[in-house]
Amino acid sequence: AQRPAADPVTAAAVKAADRAHVFHSWSAQGLIDPLAVAGAEGSYFWDYEGRRYLDFTSGLVYTNIGYQHPTVVAAIQEQAGKLTTFAPAFAVEARSEAARLIAERTPGDLDRIFFTSGGAEAVEHAVRMARLHTGRPKILSAYRSYHGATGTAINVTGDPRRWASDNGTAGVVRFWAPFLYRSPFYATTEAEEAERALRHLEETIAFEGPSTVAAVVLETIPGTAGIMVPPPGYLAGVREICDRYGVVMVLDEVMTGFGRTGKWFAAEHFDVVPDLLTFAKGVNSGYVPLGGVAISDRIAATFETRAYPGGLTYSGHPLACAAAVATLQVMADENVVERAARTGAELLGPGLRALAERHPSVGEVRGTGVFWALDLVRDRATREPLVPYNASGEAAAPMAAFAAACKEGGLWPFVNMHRTHVVPPCTVSEAEVREGLEVLDAALTVADGFTV
Ligand code: PLP
Repeated sequence: AQRPAADPVTAAAVKAADRAHVFHSWSAQGLIDPLAVAGAEGSYFWDYEGRRYLDFTSGLVYTNIGYQHPTVVAAIQEQAGKLTTFAPAFAVEARSEAARLIAERTPGDLDRIFFTSGGAEAVEHAVRMARLHTGRPKILSAYRSYHGATGTAINVTGDPRRWASDNGTAGVVRFWAPFLYRSPFYATTEAEEAERALRHLEETIAFEGPSTVAAVVLETIPGTAGIMVPPPGYLAGVREICDRYGVVMVLDEVMTGFGRTGKWFAAEHFDVVPDLLTFAKGVNSGYVPLGGVAISDRIAATFETRAYPGGLTYSGHPLACAAAVATLQVMADENVVERAARTGAELLGPGLRALAERHPSVGEVRGTGVFWALDLVRDRATREPLVPYNASGEAAAPMAAFAAACKEGGLWPFVNMHRTHVVPPCTVSEAEVREGLEVLDAALTVADGFTV
């Protein structure tokens, strides 16, 4: 994509209407100044001032095939001409074809698809299915997790953003999942971390009462909370524990699904098949809102002769489903999953590790595929995080300076607390990766200035 021409008049009008009328997510409305975006293509977007950015965020980690893929845009246009919308109680070609293609790619017997409009709704319904299937009330979910911002999903979430809306009535019990770098179990090896985390989970179930626990909900690789690849054996161990106590295993693959980790689904890295798998984002690269729950045969059987008490007006929206069918076709035709795996193994992983060797502000590099995090620290020895916020909750100097240096270099970074996540589209090219690594190199020099 070429650098576009500047259009400051339109930029000012867009920003003025946004400032006056758009209420933005997760923000103090008066303290933000959103960039006015004029367009996007592939791995880039640009503003009305003629500045172009390499998008190492994939939006909110969802444009797995990049922006404006012509095949998907054409499929949406074609579907709009044929049948723009139709209610969920009917069999519709785009919907049944999307379900068939998704079921073909999900692991094991996850063969039935309940469509939603996004990730949080998928988590809501997975939890409801688990409770109805087991007849039990409690849901176990991990600290350091993110599952969405609606009623149950925000309660299942194990990050501080839930505190404001946690009503404490959802029957959610939280436990610690493994994370060796900041181990909740004081473990020093991956094997020890996995073993202690499994013992902790089993004890949590025992003390809650196995007959009261409906489900364990986990992100296969926790994303928003820091891209923490679980140690070998952990998820297989969770599967065993769930089987032992008749607990439903829910893997949330809203962020990790559809190529992000270098597999169709991250569960494949660990040879584990959950009972329910939630997805959204990459299913159609977010071109039209879509999410869902992939349901195992055993849980689907519960609702063969008993009605499932739940539904959504836009469940399986034809435009969103047509976008999914086209996206899955593009991913197959262009080897998108294999490319993500190769980019991670050959370029991004080695490139980020090389940066860590040069920059004392990088405490740890974690990830796989096009799903990476740099854990930035003030002090490598103590692992003290690079201070993300000052006392009044505003972004404090170190991370703000790091982000500004990235943008100055033409890279849009994903910054969360004291981390930067490196999550470009699965289709990112070798030249784009090299361009991004160069900008990160310069920005990390700025972060180094805040280390001890
Ligand atoms: N689950 C996971 C693992 C996520 O990463 C997200 C969003 O980032 C969600 C659920 C919520 O999805 P949505 O924002 O589409 O509701």
